[in-house]
Amino acid sequence: MSVKAFSLFSGGLDSMLAVKLIQDQGIVVEGLTFTTPFFDARKAQEAAAQIRMPLKIEDLTTEHLLMMKAPRYGFGKHMNPCIDCHTLMLHKAGRIMEAEGADFVFTGEVLGQRPMSQTRQSLHIVAKNSGYGEYVLRPLSARLLPESRPEREGKVDRQKLLAVQGRSRKTQMEMARAYGIKYYPTPAGGCLLTDPMFSRRLKDLLHRQPDPDRRDIELLKYGRHFRIEEAVKVIVGRNEKDNLALQSLIRGDDAVLKMMEIPGPLVLIPGGSSEEIIQEAARLCVLYSDAPQDGEAAVQVTASGKMYVIVVRPTERAAATRWIIQ
Ligand code: SF4
Repeated sequence: MSVKAFSLFSGGLDSMLAVKLIQDQGIVVEGLTFTTPFFDARKAQEAAAQIRMPLKIEDLTTEHLLMMKAPRYGFGKHMNPCIDCHTLMLHKAGRIMEAEGADFVFTGEVLGQRPMSQTRQSLHIVAKNSGYGEYVLRPLSARLLPESRPEREGKVDRQKLLAVQGRSRKTQMEMARAYGIKYYPTPAGGCLLTDPMFSRRLKDLLHRQPDPDRRDIELLKYGRHFRIEEAVKVIVGRNEKDNLALQSLIRGDDAVLKMMEIPGPLVLIPGGSSEEIIQEAARLCVLYSDAPQDGEAAVQVTASGKMYVIVVRPTERAAATRWIIQ
């Protein structure tokens, strides 16, 4: 009977090479990648297409948001709980492996490549806490790590696996050439939880709203964010792309502001607010519009089922600077 494995597949070069090493042993490989509001499957889809591997895409949002509330091993440099995130992914991968009758799961991780998540201890913790420790293989560094179950059972030949270690990418580059892999993304990037600006906004959100939904998180990706009052946030589009994205995220209870007849931002107050805050939001709308900054301008407001126009002067720069979340 043929051996089948799931590759926990990010789409980075290391994950592509891990697939090649396992396929070289005649093992059937299917890729598995996850999506949340913080990362998507684009990179993995492109890479899977390049190496012609079938790819399963699973939405991990609910479990990931739950984990983000209190990651057991904390956050990295920004809001990236990498150890808990990897554990969760491996756990899900293990469940899928079982459900589909596959033999093991493997990743493209390299011992010592990343300071937090790829130490010997982290690799051990992640595999153990996933509940599938024995079934987790890291083909690029396998010969430096304890023998996994598929190796012990003879489903994988350990001697054909590698002992790559550390941050140098030399071995991987040579392997990419040998395998004819021409396109691969840079090792870092792709996860918003490692982005400093996004992390600050997320921290601010979680502090005030411990149970955000997907829309709350999507909103963090666009515009300038101002916290005028503890419970109120005002989002001001920076350009056409932001304005369109914010427009697509509007809900019925939001307050929405736009300039009358002058180009300017779309301004959103999620969940609406008081007249006083709407006035301040209108003033921000004028500040970031093409209106002359030395006088009043008209702003159209849609809130609480009503549409009306108010005329205000722009917010002073100092106030905007004080309120901005950055
Ligand atoms: S970088 Fe993002 S996706 Fe990758 S393990 Fe860390 S939190 Fe998860």
